[in-house]
Amino acid sequence: MATDDPAIDIRGLRFSYPDGTEALRGADLRIGRGEKVALVGPNGAGKSTLLLHLNGMLQGEGAVRVLGRDLSGADRRTLREVRAQVGLVFQDPEDQLFSPTVEEDVAFGPVYMGLPPDEVARRVEEALSNVGLQGFGGRMPHHLSTGEKRRAALATVLSMGVEILVADEPSGGLDPRARRGLIRLIQQLPQTMIVATHDMRLAKDSLPRTVIMDRGVVAADGPSSEILADKMLLEAHGLELP
Ligand code: ADP
Repeated sequence: MATDDPAIDIRGLRFSYPDGTEALRGADLRIGRGEKVALVGPNGAGKSTLLLHLNGMLQGEGAVRVLGRDLSGADRRTLREVRAQVGLVFQDPEDQLFSPTVEEDVAFGPVYMGLPPDEVARRVEEALSNVGLQGFGGRMPHHLSTGEKRRAALATVLSMGVEILVADEPSGGLDPRARRGLIRLIQQLPQTMIVATHDMRLAKDSLPRTVIMDRGVVAADGPSSEILADKMLLEAHGLELP
């Protein structure tokens, strides 16, 4: 793997669900290492489907390369390596939190990776601290607030030491203060990020590049300051100014 490979390189990606729905119709997207990208577009544009290709959960036609590794027809070992580098944060944090305590959820990835107990403990502490949940290790995930659940879900992938963070609608259900906290967190974390969102303010305030998807393709791509100021472009894709 050469370090000048982009983080994500998608070319001509097509994917249909088993019922025949064409969700991706030739999507192209290249994201450099360290870039932070908002993926916006109307419902059904194919955003979630595209994200699920980034760690091989879905495999379509076309090329998907992540950190220089080709995911088309990848063997289990390659998929395992890629999944250790790409943290997928789901739309519903409940899908990511299933242990009796926050600590066990955050430890799950590092334990699965076979790390020794002291390294697991170090990673759990660091990940919780990175998301502002110090001291939450012993809490029950289901009793956390929505904002805390979202942070805990993020910690479960940060603890694996991922290079790329992929998040689907991370600001859903957050109150204004929790939302501002999320924006700061996105700004501070060093990972390459791709964030699917309907929250144009979140995109404008924390993600310097915006990609508009519509009908399974990338319809526009550029600096958030330009894309998110273009009222006609946004309206053409069912979106609004921040
Ligand atoms: P977005 O995230 O932009 O809202 P999706 O990727 O969820 O878009 O959906 C893209 C298209 O694929 C839509 O037409 C949607 O109805 C369809 N779709 C999504 N998931 C499934 C599924 N499991 N089975 C069949 N069609 C699906």
